[in-house]
Amino acid sequence: MGLGPRNEDVGDLRQLQLAPLRGKGTLRLWMGVGMALVAALTMVHSAPWPIIGTWLAGTISFSLFSYRAFSKLPLGDPKLSGAAEYRLCNRHALYSSVAWSIPFWLLGLGPPLDHVLSMWTISLLMMLTLAIVAHSIPMACILFIAPVSLSAASALVMAGAPELASVTLVAGLLLSAFCVRFGQAHIRFRRAEETLHEKTETVSLLLREFEETSADWLWQTDNNRRLLHVTPRLAYALGGTAEALEGIPLLQALSGDAWATGNFPKALHDMAERMKRRESFSNLIVPVTIGGKPRWWELSASPRLDETGKFLGFRGVGSDVTEQHATAEQIAKMARFDNLTGLPNRLSLHEDLARALTQAIEAKSRCAMLMIDLDRFKAVNDTLGHPVGDKLLAQVAARLKGMMERGMTCGRLGGDEFAVVLHNVPSVNEAEGLAQRIIQTISRPYVVDNHQLFVGASVGFAIGPTDGATVETLTRNADLALYKSKDKGGNVVAAYVASLHAQAEERRVMEQELRGALDRGEFELYYQPVVTAADGTLNGFEALIRWNNQKLGNVSPGRFIPLAEDSRLISPIGEWVLRTACHEAMKWPSNLKVAINVSAEQLTDPAFASVVVSALAQSGLPPQRLEIEVTESVFLRDGGGAAQLLDQLIGLGIRLSLDDFGTGYSSLGYLRKTQFSTIKVDRSFVVGAAKGSIESIAIIRAVVALADSLGMSTTAEGAETEVEVDTLRTLGCSNIQGYYYGRPMPATDVLMLFRPPEPAATVAA
Ligand code: C2E
Ligand code: MG
Ligand code: MG
Repeated sequence: MGLGPRNEDVGDLRQLQLAPLRGKGTLRLWMGVGMALVAALTMVHSAPWPIIGTWLAGTISFSLFSYRAFSKLPLGDPKLSGAAEYRLCNRHALYSSVAWSIPFWLLGLGPPLDHVLSMWTISLLMMLTLAIVAHSIPMACILFIAPVSLSAASALVMAGAPELASVTLVAGLLLSAFCVRFGQAHIRFRRAEETLHEKTETVSLLLREFEETSADWLWQTDNNRRLLHVTPRLAYALGGTAEALEGIPLLQALSGDAWATGNFPKALHDMAERMKRRESFSNLIVPVTIGGKPRWWELSASPRLDETGKFLGFRGVGSDVTEQHATAEQIAKMARFDNLTGLPNRLSLHEDLARALTQAIEAKSRCAMLMIDLDRFKAVNDTLGHPVGDKLLAQVAARLKGMMERGMTCGRLGGDEFAVVLHNVPSVNEAEGLAQRIIQTISRPYVVDNHQLFVGASVGFAIGPTDGATVETLTRNADLALYKSKDKGGNVVAAYVASLHAQAEERRVMEQELRGALDRGEFELYYQPVVTAADGTLNGFEALIRWNNQKLGNVSPGRFIPLAEDSRLISPIGEWVLRTACHEAMKWPSNLKVAINVSAEQLTDPAFASVVVSALAQSGLPPQRLEIEVTESVFLRDGGGAAQLLDQLIGLGIRLSLDDFGTGYSSLGYLRKTQFSTIKVDRSFVVGAAKGSIESIAIIRAVVALADSLGMSTTAEGAETEVEVDTLRTLGCSNIQGYYYGRPMPATDVLMLFRPPEPAATVAA
């Protein structure tokens, strides 16, 4: 073997064979010299000493020569072919076999047998040593063993022991076979070792590259889930040194203080369980504590098994995903929380309500959904701008949050709408009580950017599952209740009652009917007289709209005007009122004025002024005969726009009156800014004053005084009785309007009043 043609493979092979000899020169030398001395001593009685001496000197010299020759050789150098060294090995083996055959030849000439046997024993020892030291080069071994064995056998035959000779030959053969087998095994083993080494090199090269180029790190544990071969990168990530971390349980390294308490985060606990079950896992996101700080790691690992399938531990990769996790968490949070206030949003409130409902149904208890809508928020937003509005909403949210107790969740549904989910409500009163407290808390003044702000709240609530067993029904019903509380003018609590559905349905039908009402000519204007308080002379009329619908019959403006405002139908209706009233007033004596009601919604339309101009122009009515009635809400809805528009109208010569004074926001600032001609005192004060209510009397007095000081007149609304009329006169109101002097009447009835040609008609009650 190993004697094939010279090529790269053979070169590699030679070096593999030669490599084990490296560093064994001294051993071989001492072995050779020692054995030669023992052999010489064995032969001392069988051969003449000069011959023995010469042999000994020759053998030792050769050993020394061989030692020197080999000590300089680059044995096992993979860069060289090794062929010359291989041949030298064989040659030296052959030479020493000659040297060690000589004693047998000498002894063979003259027995005794035991000398030959002793010599053979020594040679056998030599052969064995060689087989052990140089079995990687079987050729060299055979070149030594074969001649020496043959020589020994022939010496034994000559000494008369042929059977021992055959034993010697067999021993030689066996030894040679051993060398060949082991030589081959050696080559195979070294080859396998080399391949493995190469593989390990490649793997570690790849791993090094992985560690250096990616943000991830590798980790390994033993079969007890303790860290093994901790890389510097992993050590750094774990905030320790590789030495200190080696052998530490992985869970301990990851869990911080929780290790002592055993109170692990769920994800970490799950991972530990999987590792216990020896299951592989991938991209597991676990919360870890590194250096006392919470982080998020992504870990993947699979069990390591040896070739027999024995579990050795885990090997895996990991990376710090704290930032990504934070972003993902932020996104998830954004999907469930309102950005502005930080409160749960509609989605998460609905989920919470679903849970509350399920619990209530299972436990046969009650839950509640409270819907909150801010009153007058739009005014703040419009007057002071969205940034202030946003800050106000945040403050409202904070107050609401501050009121929450166990089993309550508050959230923002959007805009100025909030909601509270109550998990366990012992009674309806409980929900109502909370709703009242919410109104009180929210209604306290706010300070935003040096502005003192006031908003109120309307709250509607529904109790689950009685008022609705699903999130949708309960929410819709709470919404209906909220609608009702808004309808009542705000700052009140309304509970859901089944009739609200009918009302909602009615509203829906009404809105539908309202859309076509103008085209179908279903509207009519009624006119109510306004008289001078002092002498009862007619000043003019207030135009009041009436709607007679085929399906709904007569619908009062108090019901359909808010609906028209909500559904943006007020502008065309208002325009119709304006044109009709102007047109009608032209039929009246020229000293009579006509007042029309204009809702705040109409004043948000910049085209309104041109509509007024056009109505006046078309009808030919002098602007001084037209009076426009607005309520305080005009100033709350629009910061500057409405006031500017009103100034424009005043500029045209139109009169302006402030309707329903005392019922609204009651901020007197706008009374100074806008030049009203008249303040209309609400009927509630008229009734109160006539009954002797000190408050009502004081208010009417104050309004009269204020109006006088600002050069305005006052009109008291809704005087029905003589007592009321007298009271108003006494209190100094300029004008009176009410059933006492005349109900709102159709245009034709007004014209009837002028039939008997009188210059100024006095209207009888
Ligand atoms: P308003 O402008 O304050 O009108 C006075 C309301 O008081 C009228 O109700 C009138 O019929 C009622 N009233 C007058 N005298 C008495 C009285 O002695 N006793 C009682 N109990 N009530 C009296 P009406 O016609 O139902 O109108 C209600 C409200 O609807 C009006 O209040 C006004 O705000 C609004 N409105 C009426 N017509 C129009 C319109 O053409 N456009 C707009 N935008 N709103 C209108
Ligand atoms: Mg009015
Ligand atoms: Mg009024």
